[in-house]
Amino acid sequence: MEEARTNWNKEDILEVYNTPLLELVYKAQQIHRKYHTPNEVQVSSLISIKTGGCPEDCAYCPQAARYHTDIDVHKLMEVKEVKEAAEKAKAGGSSRLCMGAAWREVRDNRDFDKVLEMVREVNGMGMEVCCTLGMLTEEQAKKLADAGLYAYNHNLDTSEEYYGEIISTRNYDDRLNTINHARKAGVTVCSGGIIGMGESAEDRIGMLYTLSLLNPQPESVPINALVPVEGTPLEDQQTASIWEMVRMIATARIVLPKSMVRLSAGRLQMSMEGQALCFMAGANSIFAGDRLLTTPNPEFNEDMEMFKILGLTPQEAFKHKKQIEVVEE
Ligand code: SF4
Repeated sequence: MEEARTNWNKEDILEVYNTPLLELVYKAQQIHRKYHTPNEVQVSSLISIKTGGCPEDCAYCPQAARYHTDIDVHKLMEVKEVKEAAEKAKAGGSSRLCMGAAWREVRDNRDFDKVLEMVREVNGMGMEVCCTLGMLTEEQAKKLADAGLYAYNHNLDTSEEYYGEIISTRNYDDRLNTINHARKAGVTVCSGGIIGMGESAEDRIGMLYTLSLLNPQPESVPINALVPVEGTPLEDQQTASIWEMVRMIATARIVLPKSMVRLSAGRLQMSMEGQALCFMAGANSIFAGDRLLTTPNPEFNEDMEMFKILGLTPQEAFKHKKQIEVVEE
């Protein structure tokens, strides 16, 4: 299989991003078919294992303790509850379970031991296990890897230049360090961002550029459309249009050809036709389940109906990793 281009510069990415839309989708689809199985979409479930009360100040996030939002704050879930949620997700067709905790960083305490136990349990069920727990050290990443963690999610959110407009309690290098720690521990990386936060096209390109420089590039790249939540600084933000979303997904597909591009938050606001265009543009992963951490998401049944209409099938667990290994051999 032909090697994927990895030496992108920002000008070239911007040129791709500004290609006439239908031509861009066509080019993205060509790349998509080279590196992925057409009509196959990975279905992940996301559960919030610890909700709210976060000390960080991410401007889009209702879980930051400093904003007055209408979420149910919840301490860390019990292992048994997580196992039940995983069983339900698996029965609904999910091959991956992502567990999110609203922490600034992982601490070496009993809660972390509990998370390790959750990872062991879900891994034992034959599902890909992903965690998003904030910053973590290489040592902690190793413990998670030993417990059977498959992926660590740590989003760049936006460009390095725009990052300070969205978050002030940590910086871009903190993000890159954690990604590096996960990588060194042998865990696959899930990292992407959010569009519609007032950033420019150059910021979107800047984020894709940084992701393209990671070596290897992230196995999974979630592209979220901001869902403004009352009480957060971005509550009145003008959101991204479906056309911007399609453009972003197609550009991500071309610049990060081997990554699973995940159509993430914002799906509830999209029509089925809009989502179909995103799949054409190279999205091949979605989050299923009626909530994405704290924001509403389409119901499982609606998604399965969409899969039927579009002729899509859910991807089996661990397939992507096997595909990458074949390509890299
Ligand atoms: S996005 Fe994560 S780190 Fe930021 S405030 Fe929300 S829970 Fe905390």
